[in-house]
Amino acid sequence: MMDCIIVGGGVSGMFAAITAAGQGKKVLILEKNDCLGKKILITGNGRCNFTNEIVNPLYYSSEDNAKGHAFADKVLSECGNDKLLEMMSELGMSFYVREGYYYPKTDEAVTFRDTLINEINRLGIEVVYNYNLRSIKRTDNGFELSDKNNIYHGKKVILAMGGKAAPKTGSSGDAYYYLEGLGHKIIPPLPALTTLKTDYPTSLQGVNALADITLLIDDERIATEHGFIKYYKGMLSGIPIYQLSTRAAKAFNGKCKVEILVDFLADTNIDKAISRGLDERNALYQSINPKIVDAYYEEGNIQLFSSVKYEIIGYGDYNSAQCTSGGVDINEISPDTMESKVCPGLYITGELMDITGRCGGYNIQWAFSTGVIAGSNI
Ligand SMILES: Cc1cc2nc3c(=O)[nH]c(=O)nc-3n(C[C@H](O)[C@H](O)[C@H](O)COP(=O)(O)OP(=O)(O)OC[C@H]3O[C@@H](n4cnc5c(N)ncnc54)[C@H](O)[C@@H]3O)c2cc1C
Repeated sequence: MMDCIIVGGGVSGMFAAITAAGQGKKVLILEKNDCLGKKILITGNGRCNFTNEIVNPLYYSSEDNAKGHAFADKVLSECGNDKLLEMMSELGMSFYVREGYYYPKTDEAVTFRDTLINEINRLGIEVVYNYNLRSIKRTDNGFELSDKNNIYHGKKVILAMGGKAAPKTGSSGDAYYYLEGLGHKIIPPLPALTTLKTDYPTSLQGVNALADITLLIDDERIATEHGFIKYYKGMLSGIPIYQLSTRAAKAFNGKCKVEILVDFLADTNIDKAISRGLDERNALYQSINPKIVDAYYEEGNIQLFSSVKYEIIGYGDYNSAQCTSGGVDINEISPDTMESKVCPGLYITGELMDITGRCGGYNIQWAFSTGVIAGSNI
């Protein structure tokens, strides 16, 4: 009988295991893949942006944002970016910060993953690979977990199985089914930090443009982001789009009118170009990608470049998404311990719960914080 079985050897599962084993607990990790931390390898474009200089509860969203912020505040006050940086230093990984984003000093995501694996090996934590959890049952003194071949018993269980984003890395939403069976409420999951589908002239394929980008839901301005919008394979992409996509996808799914308003004139010197006698089109060319100018130019109407509107007609699927919104209702999880309020002895970590961070290292930070809290409370 294990003190704790952790299902899922991704970010939160590995941190939970290291923390629990570090406190002398007998821990077993059950992992669907033939290796640990597969998703880490594709994070941050292969460089793993693992946290941020500024970690604020307001950067996390949930079905009920006020409750989500309060939950995130508790978790991050207990275990924030200082703790993550401290742990990675203690484990001997070097890192650097650029524009607030933290990366391993090697600039390789595999370094972050392997640092955790080295510690898992050092602590002698047992790992069973190619284990695809099929059932979880309560017993008199804990839990019984089984796949098609093997049964394991643990006094406590941490479900660290992730959401549905990037299913090729192993996280395909299996946990929702088991958790519903144990009495949990699942907020319907949706792709988050993803691309948005719209119609735009084909001449714009491949263009990147720096702009202010605003999300409109039913004509109401919801949020504005500054950065590069990318026109890619019939979708709008780029970090500002990812940041707005979580709310956009929810609203689109809720049958709201969703639009993206792009201000290409923000922070440009077009007025100066015109005051020097340049004609409108050439003045625009000095500040805005010529393909965008050519696609939308109307004589005498320069201002239209401050509000080019795209109606959103869909969003990128889980293969394009970096995260999952929705998941286990946070009202049913203790923010102090990550223990389920519905099923005592069961703990829930990481992306599996209904908390979604922005781009910028906030989701690995979340997986770390919730993993460490669960691992130290089992
Ligand atoms: C392309 C991409 C880029 C990203 N970049 C960043 C970034 O730079 N910074 C950042 O902060 N976040 C980033 N993220 C998000 C971040 O990687 C995740 O939020 C984080 O990994 C979630 O950790 P987790 O432990 O909850 O789940 P995961 O890391 O997904 O781990 C879940 C584990 O559970 C296992 N599992 C699932 N089902 C079963 C089962 N039935 N039986 C046994 N095991 C199972 C899976 O195989 C997997 O190993 C990115 C995500 C993607 C897809």
